Parts: sequence; structure tokens; C-alpha cells
Amino acid sequence: MTLHIPFDNSYARLPDRFYAKLDPAPVASPGLIALNDGLALEMGLNPEELRSPEGIAMFAGNLVPPGAQPIAQAYAGHQFGGFSPQLGDGRAILLGEVVAPAGTRWDLHLKGAGRTPFSRMGDGRNWIGPVVREYLLSEAMHALGVPTTRALAAVTTGERVYREGPLPGAVLTRVAASHIRVGTFQFFAVRQDEEALRLLADHAIARHYPQATGAADLLREAVAAQARLVAHWMSLGFIHGVMNTDNSHVGGLTIDYGPCAFMDEYHPQKVFSSIDQQGRYAYSNQPQIAVWNMAQFATCLLPLMGERDAAVELATEIVHEFAPIYEKEWLKRFRAKLGLATEQEGDRDLIDLLLTRMAQGQADFTRTFRGLAEGTARDEFLDRDAFDDWAAQWHARLEAEGRSLTEAQEAMRQVNPAIIPRNHRVEEAIAAALEGNYGPFQRLHEALKTPFDAGDEFRAAPYPDQVVRRTFCGT
Ligand code: AMP
Ligand code: MG
Repeated sequence: MTLHIPFDNSYARLPDRFYAKLDPAPVASPGLIALNDGLALEMGLNPEELRSPEGIAMFAGNLVPPGAQPIAQAYAGHQFGGFSPQLGDGRAILLGEVVAPAGTRWDLHLKGAGRTPFSRMGDGRNWIGPVVREYLLSEAMHALGVPTTRALAAVTTGERVYREGPLPGAVLTRVAASHIRVGTFQFFAVRQDEEALRLLADHAIARHYPQATGAADLLREAVAAQARLVAHWMSLGFIHGVMNTDNSHVGGLTIDYGPCAFMDEYHPQKVFSSIDQQGRYAYSNQPQIAVWNMAQFATCLLPLMGERDAAVELATEIVHEFAPIYEKEWLKRFRAKLGLATEQEGDRDLIDLLLTRMAQGQADFTRTFRGLAEGTARDEFLDRDAFDDWAAQWHARLEAEGRSLTEAQEAMRQVNPAIIPRNHRVEEAIAAALEGNYGPFQRLHEALKTPFDAGDEFRAAPYPDQVVRRTFCGT
């Protein structure tokens, strides 16, 4: 079956120094784990073609379809605050861009496609664990309404990769509105390549903010998009885990599902990533880190913003717009989580008090908020009196706006998910996949498609012996 993929590769038309041209490295024996039919259709692709041997060969990197122009993108980045002038796609290859019938442009990107000039010490490969994880997490985020990269397909390679021991190799086909990171700008900024910065800024504007009219506008839009994104994460108890500038998307998408996690028990200082020993990317630090990343972005854009002093002043002003946008968005989301339709003076305190009591009461984040919508939140608290005291204030607040509890709870069920990809269930799906059993992965994936309206199977918090305390980049 010939693959018909309407490629139009705008990034590959940028100058050579933006990437390295190379084909994915073929693998021994590709096998399909999952294909995202819904997304394929959204992209204007034919799921049947994609499921054919040629389609699977493309997802494994064994076949470069007509019209593709495979490249590894160059980027730099601050990792845990330390700057690396050259990172780049070390285990990923952008096949090209697909333009859907609706005009939407999607990067078609293979993660685990072999070594590239940016691989440094790495093998360029991926294994089943991170592939299953990213597939589940990124699609769950999409179903939760959070801007994100997506997963189109997952395949096995029939080869082993070596980490602590041998593991089954796999490739994830990631699709996204782009893969333009703050680190992409940093790559050129550190080389003082103003021409490239200008081309990249124009490219980012065209792809994400067509209404923007210059670098200052681009910065303003990116800052606002990040502020909204992080507020959304916070409202779901999501911890990204590795908010390095190379994982900070200029279009405001969630990108890089490495050591990320949804919290079970709420605590503001929660950290999962095994490599985040200082807690730089702890739950409650995420907004500040996003500002820090946006400050790096602003620095890159200064040469495009005119006379130096005025540019610094304007860029600083724009980065400072993050806080009010974030605060507003955060309040909007948490008000909705409590079923509050109007804005009142004491709302922030009411939300903060609940969060404080949740932390003290070791309450599960997702179950507490969903429980408020279903009348079962009290069960999540060690100290039920503390919850009752807060709930009395909440009920009074609801009464003050003339909304019945039932009415509020109905609305709350639309914003407080019943299920999230809990760490222990994701681990369980990975463990089964390692045995060649994709049943748990498929069941969990299916349930996560309707997180606000789900059955009981995946709602439970982990038993003490199931709790996952550490997550790994697993590269
Ligand atoms: P990440 O931790 O996914 O944000 O990756 C950071 C950098 O390490 C990027 O430049 C990756 O391409 C590179 N990298 C991660 N894992 C591998 C690997 N197995 N082989 C080659 N490069 C890798
Ligand atoms: Mg990354």
C-alpha cells in the first residue's frame, strides 16, 4: 500500500544550520502497539494505510514516505539551570509536516529513531516504557483539555536497547503543532546569529501566533500561553518534572513526558523526578520556573526588539505580565473546581484553605476535587473535622451566590476529572507491555479518553505498597 501523506515541510525550508538532514535508522522487525485513529483522521490521514506494513514501517523509521524530508532539529537549553549550547534531537527525527484538510499543520516526529549528530553519548533509541508512558500521558492530557503534543502511533522495533539491562526497543510517533522550544531560540542566540533568530521568530509567529506582528508580540503571546498552560497543570495536580528550557514550548504546549506525574496525595512541594534532587521543578515551583524560562526566551529576542535599553525595558515588562495572567487563570480554574460561578473577595482564601487542609490531611488531589462534586470528599481526609469546617465555609459561599449544591456539583463534574493517569496504573501498563501484554495499556488509554465521565475502574488511589514515589527520564 502506498502511503499518501500530504507533506509540506516548512521547517526543512529554513537554512541548513537549523537542523541535520538524515534518515531514521532502520530497525529489525517493526510491530504495531497502538495507532491513534481519531488523531489520524483529524490530520487527514487514512488509518487503514497507516496500519498497513508500509505505515508501520514508516513509524519504525524503516520507510521514508514520499514527500518526507527527515531532519534532526538543533536546539540548546538550560537543564536544571545550567546552559548547554548544543542539545538537539538526539533520538528523534522530524519526518516532515502534514497539513490537515482544515489547514492545521502538524509535525510528524519519530522519537527513538536512531542516532543523530546531536546524540552525544546516547544511543538514539527509546524503549517500551517511555513510549507507553508518553502515549498514555500525552493523550490523557489532550482529553483533559490541556494543550499538548500528541501520540499518533507506538511501535516495537524487535531490537533490544540497553539501559540498566536489555529492554524491548520502541518508537513513538509524536505529532505537534510544532517543536519550537525556548531552547531553539537559545541555540541561535548564543551563536549571535541574528538572521537565524529573525527567521525562527517569523516561523514561530506563522505557526502559533499569526496575529503577532513582531518579536515583542511573539514574546507576549508565548508568556500568556505559558501562564495559562501552567495554571491548567496546577489545577490538575500535574507535575511536569523537567521544565528545562529545551522542554519549554514557544507555542504553549506541554512537551516532554519524561519524569512527569499526576500527584496522588496532595503536597505543594511534591517532586517525582529521580534527577530533581533540589526540587527545582516541584509542583508549587512550576509557575516561577515558567517565568524563568520566559525570561530566557526574552533574552534571546532582545536583538530583534530594537535599541538595547528600550528592548530590555519592554521585554521585562512583558515577562512581568506572566504573574497577573497566571493568577487570573489559576483563580478561574480553581473557582470552577469548587463550583463557584461568580468572583468574590474571599475566594482565593477559601481555595488556599482547602489546599492547606488537603496537604495536612494527606488528601488525594483528584479524588478530593471529584469527591466535592460527588459528595465523597470527606473520606479523603485524615482529619474529617478539618474538612467539615472548610466545607461549611464552602457551602455558605455557594449559598451566597444563590447556586444550589446540586447545580454546582453538576458543573464541577465537567472540570474535576474522575480519572487521571495515575502513576501506579501507568507502571502497571508498562510492566504488562514488557511481557508483550498491551491489554492494561489499552484499557487505561480507553478510559482516559473520557476522564470527566468515567467508570470506577481507574479511580482508586494507590494502596501504600502501590505508591510510586520516583519517576525516571527513562531515556
Ligand atoms: P530530554 O531529557 O528528553 O529532554 O532530552 C535531553 C537531551 O538529551 C536531548 O537533546 C535529547 O535528544 C537527548 N537524549 C535523551 N536521550 C537520548 C538517547 N537515548 N540518545 C540520544 N540522545 C538522547
Ligand atoms: Mg526533551
